[in-house]
Amino acid sequence: MPMRTAGSDAGVLVVGAGVIGLAIAISLRRQGVAVTVFDPDPLGGSTWVAAGMLAPVTEAHYGEEALVALNLDAAARYPRFVAEIEEASGCAAGYRACGTLSVAFDPGDLEVLAGLHRFQSELGLESTPLGASECRQLEPMLSPAIRGGLWVEGDHQVDNRLLAQALLQASVNLGARIEEVAAVSVSPDPGHPEINLADGRVVGGDTVVLALGAWSSLLEGLPGGWSPPVRPVKGQILRLVGDPATPLLAHNLRGLVSGTSLYLVPRAEGRLVVGATVEERGFETSVTAGAVYELLRDAVSLVPGVKELVLEESSAGLRPGSPDNAPLIGPTGAPGVIAATGHYRNGILLAPTTAEAVADLVVRGRTDGPAAAFSPERFSGEPHGGRSGPAGVGGA
Ligand SMILES: Cc1cc2nc3c(=O)[nH]c(=O)nc-3n(C[C@H](O)[C@H](O)[C@H](O)COP(=O)(O)OP(=O)(O)OC[C@H]3O[C@@H](n4cnc5c(N)ncnc54)[C@H](O)[C@@H]3O)c2cc1C
Repeated sequence: MPMRTAGSDAGVLVVGAGVIGLAIAISLRRQGVAVTVFDPDPLGGSTWVAAGMLAPVTEAHYGEEALVALNLDAAARYPRFVAEIEEASGCAAGYRACGTLSVAFDPGDLEVLAGLHRFQSELGLESTPLGASECRQLEPMLSPAIRGGLWVEGDHQVDNRLLAQALLQASVNLGARIEEVAAVSVSPDPGHPEINLADGRVVGGDTVVLALGAWSSLLEGLPGGWSPPVRPVKGQILRLVGDPATPLLAHNLRGLVSGTSLYLVPRAEGRLVVGATVEERGFETSVTAGAVYELLRDAVSLVPGVKELVLEESSAGLRPGSPDNAPLIGPTGAPGVIAATGHYRNGILLAPTTAEAVADLVVRGRTDGPAAAFSPERFSGEPHGGRSGPAGVGGA
């Protein structure tokens, strides 16, 4: 027989301690709501692997205009979000308002950047085309082969690992309980939903929040066999380090190298993050020689000095992809169960907006912000799976 161990004193039950689950826990605690977060491996998901770009403009894609508005909202909230997390945790979160330069390696790449600039301008987004020498003035270590670029003043970055640790510390400091155990299934109920844990306990609360990232479709128990249509999208990524006194880059650098896109994100102490592949391989996270080779080859084409860096780490993570590449934030249709998942390429960026929306839903029963347009109910009744993102290199 399962053991029933907690009543509604467990408050809101958040399943998943990545950037999304923890940001939600913090928002709820700030409103005085009791919160327990369940995760067998806190920060062990995509949050730890990511690059940490906060790039609503450079990440704008055709057909995703509503998502661009959500991303812009999140970027505007970031400085305050980080300041509050730093204050609550006592830890630095590594936010850098550094801007982003996108560069083109050959004439075809330059045409693609020109098309991107037209699209950004149509949406009223600010970006400035630059000639090759202007790009090198901004980033002197760029290869002389670079043809030109696009400067986006407002796209920044956060050190996602520092942020993640600060979020965990802030959650604890603000009184959230963190339980290192997996949830196996959920039992919806408007007044007292429960989750069944891998250690045999059954825990009840006021509301259950699903924040399991790429694993969100695996939790059982939602009515009609429905689960959030979220799938894992693998990304391989590298971490390199050089002389802290002479960092290679000052800004986020995105590049197109003969049609392949990638990014180089400079971090403190001479570190550089280079990513990333976009692969549909289920829950598989091996690092392949081919991906490491291609990422380094293209990074060296853009910035030859990358050859001198030490390769510290290669890793792979699972982005929580959804059928329309946008998150699922809101009621699931199952009583007492809210989803906050499917953040795909932009979960680090979208944490503040998602957290506020979920806190609104819990406390007021509704949210009026831009996240209201991303209710999971847009997928109710839809079969699993969905549109695949482009396979290859260069997604956030
Ligand atoms: C290579 C790469 C680069 C990226 N770059 C960027 C970027 O530059 N900018 C950006 O904004 N985003 C980026 N992303 C996307 C971003 O990482 C994700 O969108 C974000 O981390 C999702 O956060 P999450 O909390 O939903 O999921 P996760 O961080 O994956 O957390 C989910 C948590 O759920 C837990 N869990 C799983 N199953 C259970 C269970 N049964 N019970 C309890 N807990 C469970 C896991 O242990 C995990 O800790 C990148 C992703 C990758 C892979």
